[in-house]
Amino acid sequence: MECFICTQCGTQFAETAEPPLRCPICEDERQFVRHAGQTWTTLEHLIAAHHNRLEHEAPQLLGIGTEPEFAIGQRALLLQSSGGNLLWDCITLLDKETVDAVEALDGIRAIAISHPHYYSAMVEWADQFDAQIFLHAKDRQWVMRESKRIQFWEGTSLPLWDELTLINCAGHFDGGTVLHWPKGGDARGALLTGDIIQVVQDRRFISFMRSYPNYIPLGATAIKHILETIEPFSFDHIYGAWWDANILGDAKSAVARSAERYLRAIRQ
Ligand SMILES: [Zn+2]
Ligand SMILES: [Zn+2]
Repeated sequence: MECFICTQCGTQFAETAEPPLRCPICEDERQFVRHAGQTWTTLEHLIAAHHNRLEHEAPQLLGIGTEPEFAIGQRALLLQSSGGNLLWDCITLLDKETVDAVEALDGIRAIAISHPHYYSAMVEWADQFDAQIFLHAKDRQWVMRESKRIQFWEGTSLPLWDELTLINCAGHFDGGTVLHWPKGGDARGALLTGDIIQVVQDRRFISFMRSYPNYIPLGATAIKHILETIEPFSFDHIYGAWWDANILGDAKSAVARSAERYLRAIRQ
């Protein structure tokens, strides 16, 4: 028996004797199956050919990403906080070097994930560090490996500890979540956004999409909903889903002017 991993999205599935026939996350219109067809790997094979890069994106915010790049290619963020560390988003590869490095920083109290594209090997990580997993209930159908550690939360926001708050913005996925970290951004506040508010190549802007690889836009109602749900929270920095995909100043204005530009573009 093996927990097979989809090579396209990096999702680890529940234990089976043979690889699953299909990956529902990749067959969904927001993702894609490679031209050559569906393929699978295992954590053991992944460890043999890859390692993790660990580097701070900011004080108390350790980036963890796989090299050479694997699957979607996001890096996770270990937010170090006095009440316990939170792993924001997740990646597939977990090897001994990563375990040792994270243990040396006091491990992981809980994992929170923006949306199903980054569920990756969350149960593997949670089991290793004896951590809880927070997922929004609206994305429950996309969990491919169930675990008692997963806590599905409902509603618009969920306070965690040390004033950390999960916010359900929807958009890209119905359960799409961002994390508010008031002590981040040099104490002016930060949002950790995954793909829900995507930091784009021009780092003065962000964007929002239903599908990034397949270029499916979101409508005006979804954009306005995202703006409304983050409005009560103050933040100066945004940390996106990839290395250096961050807005390091005046990020709330960047969201406002990006949304304005987006709404203008879809009205024309
Ligand atoms: Zn997949
Ligand atoms: Zn995504």
